[in-house]
Amino acid sequence: MSTGGAQVSVETREKLYEGKAKIVYATNRPGMIIQYFKDDATAFNALKRGTIVGKGVVNNRMSAAMFERLARAGVPTHYLGTLSDREMLCRRLEIIKIETIVRNIVAGSLAKRTGLEEGTPITAPVVELYYKSDPLGDPMLNDDHVRMMKLATPADLAWMRRTALRINAVLRPHMKKRGLLLVDFKLEFGRSGKTLYLGDEISPDTCRLWDVTTREKLDKDRFRRDLGGVEEAYQEVYRRLVGPRA
Ligand code: UDP
Repeated sequence: MSTGGAQVSVETREKLYEGKAKIVYATNRPGMIIQYFKDDATAFNALKRGTIVGKGVVNNRMSAAMFERLARAGVPTHYLGTLSDREMLCRRLEIIKIETIVRNIVAGSLAKRTGLEEGTPITAPVVELYYKSDPLGDPMLNDDHVRMMKLATPADLAWMRRTALRINAVLRPHMKKRGLLLVDFKLEFGRSGKTLYLGDEISPDTCRLWDVTTREKLDKDRFRRDLGGVEEAYQEVYRRLVGPRA
């Protein structure tokens, strides 16, 4: 594999964690893990399950392309290199149990909570925090809750907000040039030693992406809402963001 020129041999070791869409493996290299991207899809806290053929490849390759772009823009990410179509080598992080969501256009739970129509533009991006907890169904938190629960220090939280907005400022214009509106997206951050990094993935599973002209949904909402054309939408995003022009 390539990690900025140096050839490194990495061996897969024990499974550390299996989630809904990914498996995380330890490696022979301390501080490095492998993320394996599956085709399995879930929605509504795993009440809906299915398979999106080819999704793992799209999510792995798109995440790699976005992490590389963010690294060039000075955002520290866990991405270390691509091992195969479905495997990414990453820095091992201690994940902060907060999902950070950035929104540019009203959709999904924000439309439900506010009564604003899906598609309403948002003047300044909105950042939201959710507690990463399957049993609780990922409830929304504010800064005081984060402090009370000691999920992150106020300094960490300030950095996460600032970095989330920076990521939005990098990805939104990039995607727009490739015909995609970045409606909203979810981020996860983690620590390695004293340093914070962006972790997880950036893919049509974790971003809402609409065609700039037709506003057609090209993301996991096609699966969540039974809109059909799910595989085609993932392939279209791959073509636009990972294809030769990306
Ligand atoms: N999201 C995600 N994982 C979650 C919840 C949300 O990746 O557990 C993403 C989702 O794909 C969307 C954004 O975060 O791009 C905002 O999601 P929202 O709060 O509207 O929730 P949803 O409508 O997806 O339930």
